[in-house]
Amino acid sequence: MQTVATTPAYNKNEEEEKKLILREYRALLRALKQRLKKGDRILLRRAFEIAADAHKDMRRKSGEPYILHPLAVARIVVEEIGLGVTSSICALLHDVVEDTEITIEDIEHEFGTRYSKLIDGLTKISNVVDLKADTTIQAENFRKILLTLAEDPRVILIKLADRLHNMRTLESMSREKQLKISSETTYIYAPLAHRLGLYEIKSELEDLALKYTQPDVYTEIAQGLKETKRDRTRYINEFIKPVKEELQNSGFDFDIYGRPKAIHSIYSKMRTKQVEFDEVYDLFAIRIIINTPPEREKEDCWKVYSIVTNSYRPSPERLRDWISMPKGNGYEALHTTVMGPGGRWVEVQIRSARMNEIAEKGLAAHWKYKEGGGQESKLDSWLHHLQDILNNPDTDTIDFLQDFKLDLFTEEIYVYTPTGEMRVLPKGATALDFAFDIHSELGAQCIGAKVNYKLVPLSHQLQTGDQVEVITSSKQKPSEDWLEFVTTAKAKSRIKYYLKEEKRKIGEDGKAILKRKLDHMGVKMSQQTLNELCHYYKKPSPLDLYYAIAVSNIELKDLKNFSVNGDKLVAPGRELKQDIKGLQHEDIPKQKTIKGGGELIIFGESSDKILYKLAQCCQPIPGDDVFGFVTSGEGLKIHRTDCPNAAQLLANYGHRVVKTKWAKNKEISFLSGVRIVGLDDVGVIQKITNIISGDLKMNMRSLSIDSKDGVFEGNIMVYVHDREELDALCHKLAALDGINKVERLNVQEG
Ligand code: MN
Repeated sequence: MQTVATTPAYNKNEEEEKKLILREYRALLRALKQRLKKGDRILLRRAFEIAADAHKDMRRKSGEPYILHPLAVARIVVEEIGLGVTSSICALLHDVVEDTEITIEDIEHEFGTRYSKLIDGLTKISNVVDLKADTTIQAENFRKILLTLAEDPRVILIKLADRLHNMRTLESMSREKQLKISSETTYIYAPLAHRLGLYEIKSELEDLALKYTQPDVYTEIAQGLKETKRDRTRYINEFIKPVKEELQNSGFDFDIYGRPKAIHSIYSKMRTKQVEFDEVYDLFAIRIIINTPPEREKEDCWKVYSIVTNSYRPSPERLRDWISMPKGNGYEALHTTVMGPGGRWVEVQIRSARMNEIAEKGLAAHWKYKEGGGQESKLDSWLHHLQDILNNPDTDTIDFLQDFKLDLFTEEIYVYTPTGEMRVLPKGATALDFAFDIHSELGAQCIGAKVNYKLVPLSHQLQTGDQVEVITSSKQKPSEDWLEFVTTAKAKSRIKYYLKEEKRKIGEDGKAILKRKLDHMGVKMSQQTLNELCHYYKKPSPLDLYYAIAVSNIELKDLKNFSVNGDKLVAPGRELKQDIKGLQHEDIPKQKTIKGGGELIIFGESSDKILYKLAQCCQPIPGDDVFGFVTSGEGLKIHRTDCPNAAQLLANYGHRVVKTKWAKNKEISFLSGVRIVGLDDVGVIQKITNIISGDLKMNMRSLSIDSKDGVFEGNIMVYVHDREELDALCHKLAALDGINKVERLNVQEG
């Protein structure tokens, strides 16, 4: 490997850039200062030189030298997350294996396995959430991220720093990238930061994501905060004054200040409470941070609480004691809401300096304080628990992750075993969740529980403070309806696993029966045949098909209506169609195998016939932005990218998404719907039909009008060839006198 280029600078710019890079490097050294031990400086320098050299010909989208990015990430890792030398070295090198000639072996050779392992982890995650590839996040990928997290959380912390810097510098990216990166940030990284206790970073990620996804909303709130700043400052000062005096009199070493809430959290409040910016009353919180030794901090925080409540009346329902019972992510503090001057409710957060560091730096700070020994924290046990689930090869990844995502943000309750051991569960957890939390077998055999010595059913919701004793029976078995009354990811995934196992066992018989039948017909039990059968019997998977056969839910007599083509089976009514002229959206042209991945499928063109269906939820037509989704049993389904179901499909089943594009084709027409709202007027129907059948010569299928109090609402279903035609129609209708609103219908009428 080479060292940093020593060629003399040829121009002033290059000279300036070198200075800038060195300045950033020195700033990193300063940030690490007290933490640098003997030999660290040399290692760090080496990492910097390798990275600078490897990236020397690369520039970021903004035009600046690439090396400034790893340098910035390393500084975030040190200054904002609080990690040390090892992590900053890895941050400096985080993009070299991914983007340059340097290999993981080079890193191992130069720095040893401790480093190469971390960098390997980082490289793997960036492959996972690959911003360059054109696929969205996939469930399996998220699982990989979580696995690395469970192995060495530093990998995720560095990755979060990387993401934070990318979000801070998102300005120069294309609009498309901005949207993609922002939605990933909201979907994965902000919840992870939250779960790891990195509140500051979580808020900043959410704010930045909002800035790019909903610029109008963001600007409105940011502007509102700016305009109200003076009033707010005045109010905060007034509020703080008496508390400050009292704290000083009591001899506290403290810091007190008002802090505006994050834009994203103000936005959530506006949305959930359906209020305007001016109506959000808690735009800020008061924070009191005291310097006090660990053995006194709990007592002192309560002293501060009593000082605050001497001046202001507290709301008893809004007292949160996260000191006696820290949150699952390690957060500790005392929160109260008091009636401030002018009758306004104000939130006050009381913490020791140690708790404050944990609140800001989460996991990393938490380790620092743990080094003196002590018991396993909630965060540790959460990580272990996560590792358990992920290492279980039987867990259904997609299901698990959907459930798991719910786990990331929920509030917690604290309940006890009969021996007094505390368990943390999400709010809403039931006796059955509790049983699964203790042990999978205990859950599977649970028939009820005693909560505070009283007998309750499985579905009983637990409250903080409950003591729970599980009652089991060896005859008990999980059933489908159990899924309705568990909330934890663990319980859900275990129940689903048991049910699937059960189905599989029973299905074995069905499979044998089917095989005999097919053999008899001379048909091979191939994937194609199974797909055909699943489609015909409307079963989502072969497993469901076998199961239905075994419990005789379906009639195999129907098989005689199928036709046999070679050793393949063709369902009745699904004969191959050669001529697709006049094709309607329900018709199916010749089948072609479609694999998941990034390939481009052009459909609607007679030279390339593919089995596809247009999704009923959004009814796409040529010209719409669309994607294809590979379903099990029904071939390819085409959805609009703005379909209400799109985000969920793209995020969770990215591997089943295929890029699709419309071919130009004026021969096929598609059913589409338009909703209009206007003032009731005698001639209105006449005018509408004139436009559709007269001016535009479109084929109308139905028109339904509903009128009430002088206002009418109409749904029109028409056949159009493409988006252009539909837009033209909407345009013409909107131009009619008395029409207020014209919009596309999303769901088919009737
Ligand atoms: Mn990076």
